Order: sequence, then structure tokens, then C-alpha cells
Amino acid sequence: MKRLAILGATGSIGRATLDVVARFPERFAVVALAGGRNLEVLAGQIRAFNPSVVAVAEEAGARELRARFPDLEVLAGEPGRVAVATHPEATTVVGALVGAVGLVSTLRAVALGREVLLANKETLVVAGELVVAAAAKHGATIIPIDSEHNALHQALRVGPAASVSRLILTASGGPFRTLTRAQLADVTVAQALAHPTWRMGAKITIDSATMMNKGLEIIEAHHLFGVPEERIAVVVHPESKVHSLVEYEDGTLIAQLSVNDMRFPILYALAYPQRLPSPFGTLDLVEVGALHFEAADENRFPCLRLARAALRAGGTVPAVLNAANEVAVAAFLAGQLPFPAIAEVSAESVRREAAQASALGCLEDALAADERGRVWAREITVKYAAASGGSS
Ligand code: MG
Repeated sequence: MKRLAILGATGSIGRATLDVVARFPERFAVVALAGGRNLEVLAGQIRAFNPSVVAVAEEAGARELRARFPDLEVLAGEPGRVAVATHPEATTVVGALVGAVGLVSTLRAVALGREVLLANKETLVVAGELVVAAAAKHGATIIPIDSEHNALHQALRVGPAASVSRLILTASGGPFRTLTRAQLADVTVAQALAHPTWRMGAKITIDSATMMNKGLEIIEAHHLFGVPEERIAVVVHPESKVHSLVEYEDGTLIAQLSVNDMRFPILYALAYPQRLPSPFGTLDLVEVGALHFEAADENRFPCLRLARAALRAGGTVPAVLNAANEVAVAAFLAGQLPFPAIAEVSAESVRREAAQASALGCLEDALAADERGRVWAREITVKYAAASGGSS
């Protein structure tokens, strides 16, 4: 039986994970849950799955939960997330936090040699070298839940690593796939949040609209699979049924297809290295009918090019890219920045970091770069808003 500790239990991936877990009570148990501020959802999960430790974002929330569940250990903040990630009875840690906040706790689980099912791509973007090195040192298995990387993980089991010529990430193209640069200047928050094929949280949905999500996924794939940037391709696939492909040197493409529902990659990761019968149906190819593929346009979606440049620059530059993007996305959602400025604020922050080129030697370097990126991005955001008439 796999005993799970789930970081980010109340978010979209956390809830989908518990939905899968509930279908296989003889295979999976929940020992620890870390949520954020959604105490109602977390209370329901506590009643349904009976964990022995729970963590929330803030102490006030922890006090409220302690009052409702007097026998439960309830912790708060980073120490709470770390206690969940390092729970002594957990065999498997699900990393489903959003953003760089997942880094420390995920790294602690890796250092204990736990099996880590990782949806939190920002952890790998910010400190991929450190996470992968720690996993190798401590014998931790990392299984990606991000649908593209989950597809690659499956397709990579088909042939030897030395025969892989390219990884091909598919991208839905987001809600603005067909818009011109001029049209992209005026899109609203509501339009950016209306993703055509996936139901996800706000941050990743905006990242899909800018295609920064795919840029971050290039960096994520590089760290997970040890393939250099120039051999990681992106192809736009509006139906989101082929989740990614591996190209082998003999010209064979191995694709992974399933319904576009995150419970499928979660089911694979939870069952790994076995397979479990899907409680969620299967993909009907006749119903799908046609699949389309297009080139990804790095001129209309400059975040793709920016992420490639950050990965090539290496060191702390990807951490700054990630931090600046998180700040710029939050500012866009708050109505403080126009859509194209997300890429511009991120690019300017990356330029500043690349000019001083710091190495990524330890966790503190990554956290410092993350903080630097946030400070710069806030500064650039304020300047940008002032220059464009100060909508904030
Ligand atoms: Mg993805």
C-alpha cells in the first residue's frame, strides 16, 4: 500500500489526487495533508481521509481547524508543509503546490528518498539541478504529474535513453492561439482565464495563455529527463489529446494519448510502476475524429523564447524568470498590468539577473534568486503601470 502525504491538497491537482485515491481504498491511504486557506475543503478532506497531520498556510487557520478537530495535529506555514512532506509514515509525497512555495518541502521529501509525484513544476524551474542531484543521491524516484512530462515518462519507457533524439512537448496554444500581436494587447483577465481544453487554477491558466507554461515545461523536461534545451521541441496541438511525444533516433515517434483530465496522469503516477484500471473511462478516438498540429509562434508568444534563453543562461536565471512571472501574473490578475506586459516584466527581470550571472550552488542561492526576482518584478511592474497611465 502507498501511504500518501499531499502538499497542495485543496488545489485543483490535490483534489483530483484525492478523487483517484478514494476509488482505490485498498491501494492508497492518506497520512498527511497540506492545504492553503480553503479550510472548508480541507475539513471535508480530513473527514473523508482521516490524516494524522494537517498543515495550513497561516496560524489563524490552524487554530480554527484545531478547534474543529481536537485530536488532529494541525500545523501552519513552512514548518507545517515540511512536517507533511517528511511525515515518517509516508511512502509517497504528492507535490501539488503552485509556485516556488513548494520548493523547500519538496526538496526535504526528496532528501528522505521518498517517492515524489511532482505536479509543482516551479520547484524544478527554480532549483532543478538541486532537486535532481538530491534525488540521485538519496534514491528518490520523481514521477511527473504534469500531463506532458507524465506522457514523456511513459513514452521514455519504450526505448533506451541513449536512442532518444527529441522530446516533443504538446501545447494547447491556450485561449489566444489564433490572435495577432495587436489583438493580444487588449485581452481581458476573463478571456485569459477561459482555457479551451483544461480546467485548472488561475496561475497556470494565465501561464497557458502567455505560453509561459510551456516555456517553464521546457525547463522542467530538461531537468527531469536530462535532455538539452535544443532537443526539446514544442508543437501546438489544440485538441490536447496527445500529451507529448518522444522521438527516437530510428524515426519512431511514441505518443501518449488519454482524455484531457488530470486524473489520468495522477492515476499513472499513483499506480507506478504498475497500471490500474481507469475509473474515468477511456479516450474514444472515433469521437475525437481529428487531431491537429501547428508550429508554436515565438513572436506572438515571446515567453517561449524567454524561457529557452533562461534555461541556456542557467544558474539562478530560471529562478528569477519564475519569480518575475509569478509577480507579473498576479499583477495582471489584479488589473495592474496589460497582458503583453507579463512577458515584458519577466524579460526585464531576466536581463538584470543574466547581467550578474550567479551560480546555483545550494538551496539558499535559489531562495535568494527567487526573492530578487520578486523585488525586481514588483519594481518594474510599478514603473510599467506608471508609464502606461497608472491603472493600479
Ligand atoms: Mg502541463
